[in-house]
Amino acid sequence: MNALVKAHPREGLWLQTAPVPEIGQDDVLIRINKTGICGTDIHIWNWDEWAQKTVPVPLITGHEFAGEIVEIGRNVQGLHLGQRCSGEGHLIGKQSRQSRGGKFHLDPETRGIGVNEQGAFAEYLRLPAFNVVPLPDEISDDIGAILDPLGNAVHTALSFDLLGEDVLITGAGPIGIMAAAVARHAGARNVVITDINQDRLDLAAKVADVTPVNVTSEDLADVQARLKIKQGFDVGLEMSGNQAALDQMVEAMVMGGRIALLGIPPGKSPVDWSRIVFKAITLKGIYGREIFETWYKMIAMIQNGLDVSGVITHRFAMKDFEKGFSVMKSGLSGKVVLDWRA
Ligand code: NAD
Ligand code: ZN
Repeated sequence: MNALVKAHPREGLWLQTAPVPEIGQDDVLIRINKTGICGTDIHIWNWDEWAQKTVPVPLITGHEFAGEIVEIGRNVQGLHLGQRCSGEGHLIGKQSRQSRGGKFHLDPETRGIGVNEQGAFAEYLRLPAFNVVPLPDEISDDIGAILDPLGNAVHTALSFDLLGEDVLITGAGPIGIMAAAVARHAGARNVVITDINQDRLDLAAKVADVTPVNVTSEDLADVQARLKIKQGFDVGLEMSGNQAALDQMVEAMVMGGRIALLGIPPGKSPVDWSRIVFKAITLKGIYGREIFETWYKMIAMIQNGLDVSGVITHRFAMKDFEKGFSVMKSGLSGKVVLDWRA
């Protein structure tokens, strides 16, 4: 089969042929239809310090996918051939206290497809049946291929009650934009999203009913005053990984505000802890998606009118993957989807 492989420990990915994976008795084989390119894949492409420490070579990359089941292991029940699906790319252990307590997303043994294990940028993917998420007919393969990052957005956004609240999102990358749409769907009063990239802010305003703020040219405090957000934002969703953005968020929060942190800073970054203490702010770190609560919530929201389709700005045939990666790297895209059947 064709697969996008991290074949050498240097910049790039290589389209190679690889054997179709053999499945175990608890697995399924998925024929991949569409995949999404993630920021993580860009790190792996660039072969930065994190990738060098984390990713074994050679490895089939990719973890955002939609496809259909073409083979089913002997022990698997409740799934059928031809079943359209996406799936959770975090492979968990079942021994830890967290797993045994039902908090699967907090299992410390978690391994990621396309990062630690063979991934989804391929014509076929082996996946434990446990990880499969069937797709209802009304969810297209395009949307199926971005449920993983939508899940990050949903997990973060639904961490705190948003109904009637003023929400600040820092970072209008694909995940920040989807979080804005989710916050609106969940009944937030004002949803303000910041970035330094005007193209992304324009995309945010197209995809969701939000107030975009370019912090290089606008003062967030002015926007707050205009929106009559008197004492500060109730909920903050940090989705940039940028130190300045987090500082600005803390500054803009109400006393007792709640912040969910998804963005990953590049290294250690200084935090003004006394500001957080005196403002009595609650901080929550977010990792991945709640398995499988986030999946249920996001599918239900899509079925109930949540529309994030506009965040997909580019589609390419798999053989044109280099174009897809270069548009992602340009910062001028939302989600980029590759078609494995084109
Ligand atoms: P992205 O890099 O596409 O988007 C980040 C955005 O932040 C960019 O548009 C950038 O211009 C913007 N930004 C930079 N400086 C800013 C500033 N000072 N103020 C406001 N915005 C600023 O990333 P993404 O794919 O949307 O993902 C969002 C973040 O979530 C990334 O940091 C990613 O690494 C992280 N992430 C975490 C998890 C997890 O499990 N915790 C999972 C997926 C992604
Ligand atoms: Zn991803």
